[in-house]
Amino acid sequence: MSSLDQDQRLHRGCRDKTTVSSDSSDTHELAKQPLQGLKLASHAVLEKAQQMGRLKCSKCGGSRMFFCYTCCSLVGVTLQEIPSIKLPVKIDIIKHPNETDGKSTAIHAKLLAPSDVTIYTYPCIPEFDKDKVVLVFPGPGAVSVQDMMQCLHNRTDSGSHNPSGEPCIKRLKRDEDATHSEGTPDEVKGSESRAFPLERVVFIDSTWNQTNKISTDERLQDLLQVELKMRKTCFWRHQKGKPDTYLATIEAIYYFLKDFHEHCLAQEYNAEYDNLLFFYSYLHSVVKKAKTSAGKC
Ligand SMILES: [Zn+2]
Repeated sequence: MSSLDQDQRLHRGCRDKTTVSSDSSDTHELAKQPLQGLKLASHAVLEKAQQMGRLKCSKCGGSRMFFCYTCCSLVGVTLQEIPSIKLPVKIDIIKHPNETDGKSTAIHAKLLAPSDVTIYTYPCIPEFDKDKVVLVFPGPGAVSVQDMMQCLHNRTDSGSHNPSGEPCIKRLKRDEDATHSEGTPDEVKGSESRAFPLERVVFIDSTWNQTNKISTDERLQDLLQVELKMRKTCFWRHQKGKPDTYLATIEAIYYFLKDFHEHCLAQEYNAEYDNLLFFYSYLHSVVKKAKTSAGKC
């Protein structure tokens, strides 16, 4: 594939949003960004905080802008000034201890959806219930978000699991014809919330190389693996030699939830989780502006 193709695909992936900001100045600003089309809270508070420059974190004394990645607290902005998002499932993020905190986007999720997001530092991870928890990580046995609910239902129904994931797909295809469905009505209505087996979604936050160590941890082996396909990263810290489908953690959470909303909750997506990218899109625009003024773009 030529680099031109890659650029075009990158753009298409990043612009996979149909919503438009209601604020015309925001729209104008976002039109210049690859993350355009997101319905975001006003970035004025971040612009103001950026003008003040770095401030001391009141907890650790570190010099920070917007938030302290060590203490997971806001710096120069208040909780009331940033959006707060309610998520349809709990999110657990497993962070590699060597991952540089300042580069991680996991903290964005914790700050914007504090009641639904928990960050663990590997190897300290909780016990996961394999019938109610999935791991978002690519691999040969990984299924799509669309197939995920059916696979979880199958595990619960049969009382056993299948690491390959293959029978899940077969079962799903057959079940598309509702007249052939077996089981109770609850089991058949896979997209209804009361039949939801999914309680928790696990993401791994680390560099590509460190990720393998975590994903092969035996405590994660029994979890159904879910893969986000056809998504391209907008991350400015692109890891050299890694595929552009390797998403920043906050991107992965956002795309997962968007797919979950549309395919599992079976609801029209109406920008419910766009604000998860509140910090990300702002930082992205700052980095892009800096690169442009440095003549790199
Ligand atoms: Zn701090």
